[in-house]
Amino acid sequence: MEATQAAPAKQLVQEKWNKRPLIIAGPCSAETEEQVTETAVRLQKTGKVDMMRAGIWKPRTRPGSFEGIGTKGLPWLQKAKQLTGIPVAVEVATAKQVQDALHFDVDVLWIGARTTVNPFSVQEVADALRGVDVPVLIKNPINPDLELWIGAVERVAKAGIKQIGLIHRGFSSYGNAQYRNAPMWHLAIEMKRRNPELMMINDPSHICGRRDILLEVAQEAIDLDYDGLIIESHIDPDKAWSDAKQQVTPERLAEMLDSIRWRK
Ligand code: PEP
Ligand code: MN
Repeated sequence: MEATQAAPAKQLVQEKWNKRPLIIAGPCSAETEEQVTETAVRLQKTGKVDMMRAGIWKPRTRPGSFEGIGTKGLPWLQKAKQLTGIPVAVEVATAKQVQDALHFDVDVLWIGARTTVNPFSVQEVADALRGVDVPVLIKNPINPDLELWIGAVERVAKAGIKQIGLIHRGFSSYGNAQYRNAPMWHLAIEMKRRNPELMMINDPSHICGRRDILLEVAQEAIDLDYDGLIIESHIDPDKAWSDAKQQVTPERLAEMLDSIRWRK
């Protein structure tokens, strides 16, 4: 399989990266080729999605649940992109995952919350990115520790990555009730204050852990002047292989995006 990426594709990714609000949507996990294709087509039909996310390798907190389809899912994303023209984003946590994702033309990489907490893992990913021109999004660590988040940004920046963005996905604490991961907005705001040059998008899906409050969290982020949203969207949310409770169909996502009051 060719590892080359045509210049127009890079340019499109660049345009999308700079678009405000930036909207990234897609399933928590890539599950089957049909699911990936149908998701991409239905997201494209909304006309509101700039990039498609899909987890290929899933860092599950506990063993025994779906840990991602793995490398065999990457060609599905590549085909979905060819079909719809929507650039794709994937989570990476190891050097091998970085290499595999780039080999299959993944356009944007993200570092997940369970990886941002671990400097060894972040450094491994950063080393694999040396000399590569790809945008990287960095989620906050699962625990409310800004230094870990900043450290991850520094490691990726030191590896030479020029386009770095932040994803605020909330913070885990024992006994979270309303939210799966409490937003702790003040921490994200402080992160932005300390890194004004980096874009920050909000991930209401992993903050909420449930569908019914997604819209209010997304609205709060937009009111706080976030640069965009990353929202999980599945063609049949209740049957999703991971994070079923928080996903919405592409059509419901479009309705949600329509009802947000965007900043002028
Ligand atoms: C995900 O994006 O599906 C994910 C695993 O998120 P987080 O790293 O925020 O838990
Ligand atoms: Mn998820």
